[in-house]
Amino acid sequence: QEAIWEEGIRVASALEAAGHEAYLVGGCVRDRLLGRELHDIDIATSALPEQVMALFPKVVPTGLPHGTVTVLIGESAFEVTTFRHETSYSDSRHPDEVAFVRDVKEDLARRDFTVNAIAYGTNGVMIDPFGGQEDLKRRIVRCVGAAGERFGEDALRMLRGIRFAAEFDFEIDEEAWRGILSQRERLQRIAMERVGSELDKMLAGLHPSKAIRLLRTSGLLAHAKESLYPPLPAIEGTEAGWHRLDRVELRWAAVLLLAGADSAQADDWLRKLKFSSRRVAEVSAIAALRGYLDESRKPIDRERWTAAVLRYGVKSAADYIAIARAFPSVDRSQWDSGVGIERADVWLREMSAATVKELAVRGDELVRLLGREAGPWISEELNRLLLLVALNKLKNEAQALKAEAKRHWTDQNV
Ligand code: ATP
Ligand code: MG
Repeated sequence: QEAIWEEGIRVASALEAAGHEAYLVGGCVRDRLLGRELHDIDIATSALPEQVMALFPKVVPTGLPHGTVTVLIGESAFEVTTFRHETSYSDSRHPDEVAFVRDVKEDLARRDFTVNAIAYGTNGVMIDPFGGQEDLKRRIVRCVGAAGERFGEDALRMLRGIRFAAEFDFEIDEEAWRGILSQRERLQRIAMERVGSELDKMLAGLHPSKAIRLLRTSGLLAHAKESLYPPLPAIEGTEAGWHRLDRVELRWAAVLLLAGADSAQADDWLRKLKFSSRRVAEVSAIAALRGYLDESRKPIDRERWTAAVLRYGVKSAADYIAIARAFPSVDRSQWDSGVGIERADVWLREMSAATVKELAVRGDELVRLLGREAGPWISEELNRLLLLVALNKLKNEAQALKAEAKRHWTDQNV
């Protein structure tokens, strides 16, 4: 932490020694002032990209058109960007033109929020023309300049603003909030993938319920390019629940289940946000498992629960339990008397097999044992045995399984 910051200072000092200006800027300065962990260090400099490239032995021209060069030192990467300013955004997404400028203050003026527009000099002096330090103390997310204009230029900033407010538990300044309300239609211009990535950071962060509340009250997501249905759930005061879910996939499943989404809707949400098919499958399986429990006409007992586990997998079942513990209202199941999610968890852990692969007998062994021709009956039989094993009615041992298969097929064929 301290080491990477010091390394950043050395990069800036090297630029200064070559006659340029250089500052640590943006998220790293903000996070350091907040006492948060730093991830990446950004440096702003008056040096042009070619000059930066000439100065350091290991560089990658990561974003030359934007003036960005990545300087590699040991294991760390530093994004060094030439002071620049952006002119007119006719599409609410990309600046029409990027121009390099001489003055760090002009560079700071293009940044989104005051807390992200503080430059830290190698001598320890802050350049903070918009009062970012004051806003950090007051815990306020405020735009650099006129909010309506800034959100109009780049609609993603509205989501970023909500993300920062949630993550740091800050308030959104009044003008910024009005700016969001007046510019929210412009979210349409933003690629769904970028919307997804902001939402993902909000959910992965410290205060997902605050993020969801701000998203709901702003009505912002209703203006996304593709419609996301059902809308986000009203779930205030459940901060503790989020902290019990340590993987972001579980948090996504929780949001969607709280919103009342079924598996097709969960699938649709996450697909539209361009998440990996693995994540989509993982979350929609959890929703499908809930649907399966919901549609049971009888109260859910060990048999029904076990059938659900075999159908959707141990992982989905364990995830479902974790989510139901964090947010009890997610579990709408009509459990058999005296049964609930904790009992379901015990049953889950008692299952000695949950897939036919884990059975102590194989299909070809059944073929030999029963002297029948191979056919669909094999997998039926394996699944029948599996259910008995999963219910703890039969031991998962070759002897016992074979005896049961033999008994079953002899009875049937008398
Ligand atoms: P984090 O990395 O924690 O999400 P960050 O503030 O570092 O937060 P980055 O996306 O890494 O965010 O951007 C670095 C800096 O670039 C920001 O601090 C901000 O000054 C500026 N910036 C990033 N995105 C925008 C934007 N859409 N509009 C204006 N300035 C931006
Ligand atoms: Mg950053």
